[in-house]
Amino acid sequence: GSVWGQLPQAPPDPILAVGDAWRQDSDVRKLNLGVGAYRTEEGKPLVLNVVRKAEAALLHDPTLNKEYLPITGDPVFCKLARELALGGDCPAIQQGRVSTVQALSGTGSLRVGAELLATHYKPSRVVLIPKPSWPTHRNIFTKAGMQVQEYRYFEPKSRGLDFQVRLCSHLGEPQRGAVVILHVCVMQVIDPGFLLLAILDVVQSRRLLPFFDSAYQGFASGDLKADAASLRMFANATAPDGGPQELMLAQSFAKNMGLYGERVGALSIISNPLPKTWACKACGRTVHHQQVSLPIHSTVPLPKTWACVASAWAHCALSSSWCDELAGMANSIKAMRSSLTQALRRAGVPGDWSFIEKQIGMFTYTGLTRPQCERLTGKHHVYLTMDGRISMAGLNARGAEYLAGAIVEVIA
Ligand code: PMP
Repeated sequence: GSVWGQLPQAPPDPILAVGDAWRQDSDVRKLNLGVGAYRTEEGKPLVLNVVRKAEAALLHDPTLNKEYLPITGDPVFCKLARELALGGDCPAIQQGRVSTVQALSGTGSLRVGAELLATHYKPSRVVLIPKPSWPTHRNIFTKAGMQVQEYRYFEPKSRGLDFQVRLCSHLGEPQRGAVVILHVCVMQVIDPGFLLLAILDVVQSRRLLPFFDSAYQGFASGDLKADAASLRMFANATAPDGGPQELMLAQSFAKNMGLYGERVGALSIISNPLPKTWACKACGRTVHHQQVSLPIHSTVPLPKTWACVASAWAHCALSSSWCDELAGMANSIKAMRSSLTQALRRAGVPGDWSFIEKQIGMFTYTGLTRPQCERLTGKHHVYLTMDGRISMAGLNARGAEYLAGAIVEVIA
């Protein structure tokens, strides 16, 4: 027998398994609403023009080579990444309190951050993750040795924010100093509006450490700056002890640059000024920079030598044509929200589905129950995660019409 004879079967990844099942379905009406990947009206993957142009230019750049990058990545890329998120005029950046390392997209950035927390963060072992949310958060932090707890924010009836009952009480319960994961568009599908200040207040009163996950900057409003407003508000806030608010940030450029498989991301740590004696001997940066490089070397590989991709990003990051293309993607998703809402009305759906147009970003949490989701997949060839989340980017006009009919049938 094999030395692997006793190997137990691994549980399927909740999102990737949806895509696998969709691929195996031969029905022409099938829809893949699991993975958050932008598609053209014909359902094809999209490479942005700015990326194509930058790659073409770089192919002939004689200064590029394929040497290893420094452990903490390409410094130009890191600088651009943090400025994109926080704004170039952010006091934390200007005061040198932001340390950024390049990592393998959003997942790799979260993983490096989780390792740093597990090894060096003293106030608490607890990480609070939003529910519903991206299922991988749980695995990343558990694997790193942190204790995961959930906070709820979603009100199933209105499919909106349940601020008082759930969010505030759940964030107020855990031990002081716990880490809290917040989506940069705070609740991923829900814009908390003026309640953001109250969220900051709960976070600060429990001395929670915010860890922002920025996987969709630009996809909510179509505007990179507007979508970073919550993050910037936290980053510019004063902590209860009178010093600056500290936080962590994981950025992914999978969606907003369409670089999915290229794995482009960054982890930033925004901290109080640290004593000079703590500076890394090699790079002169804060001790974080040095410590963060340890998990990068031992648990995840060195950043990719994207001389190519990282610099491609650097070339086009601040270009207005990127912003235009990103706004185009965000607007077509918004248009899809109204197409689906209208299709549901035409199909005679009972109840109030106006929440589809109120939610933001790439996804909609439909509030459909697990049995309803199972029926959507089993009977109607509509593939989605069993928490009722659908990727609006996986729909087109015909798909919206078909989905509406299927929803009406499963809730009947
Ligand atoms: N955070 C969230 C909320 C996500 O949805 C995703 C991917 N879909 C990620 C992080 C990380 O993605 P990636 O590793 O592809 O950048």
